[in-house]
Amino acid sequence: MVYSHPLYSNTQCTINTIMPYVGIGLHSGRRVTMQLHPAAPNSGIFFVRSDVPAAHAVIPASWKHVVDTRLCTVLGNEHGVTIGTVEHLLAAIRSCGVDNLMIEISADEVPILDGSCAPIVQLIKQAGIVGQRLPRHGIWIEHPIQVRQGERFAILEPSATPRVTVEIDFDSAAIGQQSVSIDLIDNLFETEIAPARTFGFADELEQLRSQGLALGGSMRNAVLVDRDQVKNAEGLRFADEFARHKILDCCGDLALAEAPIFGHLHTYKPGHRLNHALLREMFAHRSAWQKLPYGQIMQRIERAERPQLKVVKSERSALK
Ligand SMILES: [Zn+2]
Repeated sequence: MVYSHPLYSNTQCTINTIMPYVGIGLHSGRRVTMQLHPAAPNSGIFFVRSDVPAAHAVIPASWKHVVDTRLCTVLGNEHGVTIGTVEHLLAAIRSCGVDNLMIEISADEVPILDGSCAPIVQLIKQAGIVGQRLPRHGIWIEHPIQVRQGERFAILEPSATPRVTVEIDFDSAAIGQQSVSIDLIDNLFETEIAPARTFGFADELEQLRSQGLALGGSMRNAVLVDRDQVKNAEGLRFADEFARHKILDCCGDLALAEAPIFGHLHTYKPGHRLNHALLREMFAHRSAWQKLPYGQIMQRIERAERPQLKVVKSERSALK
């Protein structure tokens, strides 16, 4: 592992300078301005809505604040102020090794970017990541934690390397069965997962639009699947981009644990509701994990004899 990467810093990290970003909301279709600000140690990641009174504006990026998981992950505070589609942004922040960050935002929805989180990874790298004085802690999985919702499941198992394995199975021949496993070490998230875009189906898009949703959705910010075909002229960024995007979503949803998780997440047909249920299950079983300072975590990682994947192992069914 590249121990100089901010992911392995023993102390907490934030960004070096304020970074602005302007985009559109996936559902509203409206312009959203966002600014990433450095934040003090122990303040965590939190949103500040600049379009509501200051006393009601703060929403922590925490699993305790999840208020909706139907179309995306939505967070809310005690004043009923919400922020939606947080998962891609949070995946980028956590995977860059940032612990403390204030996200100032002018609407109730994070910009959809290009459907992936690569632009945010670049924004954070441009800002620079700086170490802070206080120690960083991680969640070390000691015993398996699992949830099932029908045929879907998610399991967090002990693993010295943070790993995610996602399996998906769609009726469309453009997607089919895909399975991707990756160790979230070094810059593998940045190169293998961050560029993977969200996707949608043409018939579902029509339905959402008729309800006034997905108004900002287009082939500029999503892969559009029409029955068995990808409609985007540029095609896919990875042959298994769909499964990789699901890993991105899982990383964003698990970032709501408020600390990096050291374990192996194995999930079949994941979704925001399942990911949130897994976090609730984890926090309900206090004996299944330990919160440890990074110094101790790094010692455990170095001692562990582990089969390391290092690179993505991927399988997918052939296109019909
Ligand atoms: Zn997504």
